[in-house]
Amino acid sequence: ITCSMSSRAPPKALLQDMVVPPRQLFGPGPSNMADSIAETQSKNLLGHLHPEFVQIMGDVRLGLQYIFKTENKYTFAVSGTGNYWRKKVISLFGVSGHSGMECAMVNLLEPGDKFLVVEIGLWGQRAADLANRMGIEVKKISAPHGKAVPVEDIQKAIAEYKPNLVFVCQGDSSTGVAQPLETIGDACREHGALFLVDTVASLGGTPFDADALKVDCVYSATQKVLNAPPGLAEKIRNRKQRVASFYFDALELGNYWGCDGELKRYHHTAPISTVYALRAALSAIAKEGIDESVQRHKDNAQVLYAALKNHGLEPFVEDEKLRLPCLTTVKVPERIDWKDVAGKMLINGVEIAGGLGATVGKIWRIGTFGINSNKTKIENVVELLSKSINETRSKL
Ligand code: PMP
Repeated sequence: ITCSMSSRAPPKALLQDMVVPPRQLFGPGPSNMADSIAETQSKNLLGHLHPEFVQIMGDVRLGLQYIFKTENKYTFAVSGTGNYWRKKVISLFGVSGHSGMECAMVNLLEPGDKFLVVEIGLWGQRAADLANRMGIEVKKISAPHGKAVPVEDIQKAIAEYKPNLVFVCQGDSSTGVAQPLETIGDACREHGALFLVDTVASLGGTPFDADALKVDCVYSATQKVLNAPPGLAEKIRNRKQRVASFYFDALELGNYWGCDGELKRYHHTAPISTVYALRAALSAIAKEGIDESVQRHKDNAQVLYAALKNHGLEPFVEDEKLRLPCLTTVKVPERIDWKDVAGKMLINGVEIAGGLGATVGKIWRIGTFGINSNKTKIENVVELLSKSINETRSKL
């Protein structure tokens, strides 16, 4: 009797070293990582319950409270599953903003709730879609792409619709619009709604003060954060139905991150290296200062606007006050193929992106996040953009 063992050769590709070309990432994210963060990320692993790691988690919580401007003790990072790194505004990074988004929504919404979505682009649509999947009634209040929704209209919608939760994306990366947030928190408090803000593409690049804005819950994808002010934990504790997700249960996560002062329970195994990297990123911001970081992004946005103008290019968001300083959308000139131009830039080692959702074909998106918010780098990117447009044009 012969026993035939099927042997399969290992994939040839895996016998070669991986090739990662150098790249300047000026798209909507990820953006380039500072060397100090990359080095910290590759330090040796610790166990996730070792005292030194618990201390690192504590440092991360302090850093998050600092950048979100909140005293709230329920401030922690949500581990996203997925294994890509990103770093955007203020050199922070994490894994998957969707984890922050879903975590917030599964904790804050219950069957029977009413959800008001302020839609200035794709991210409002995504929030509405998630709520739809949860069987929640959704009302959208939208602005034409490139514009924000007037806060008076939002206040009116809150008063009339009386939602349980209001979603606003502070900086929509599909349009480059920064939605003003002032007074929305007051209207929410007055009418018993919770106020949820997506700061994935805006935190550190434009001012944000969670406590002053009366935000109940805010997340920022780059560092996968969920944060909620005092009182909200109580609300979640008093839900009629248990949170449908164990992984994203904010009270479980809060305990794991040491927010509730109780004995720490095992919830999941934190991505150790990611947490190291998050601490390094927060440390970089602490050293620069959060307000200084915001100012640098604003100043360098002016550099970008001036460079665009010099090369005859126009921002998509006409009202300068509504432009997201760390992500600028640029009109694609007539008869120019945006993809051809972006492809030419990529060959030269520089990434910029096309539109997203409804803005595909109409715009390019140039992210100037974290260490990429730098005058010389920005001027070089616009120079290359202009050269690539001219090359495309010469073929017409
Ligand atoms: N919200 C906004 C405003 C975003 O820009 C993004 C990603 N570009 C997300 C949420 C989702 O983040 P992620 O791709 O990390 O899941």
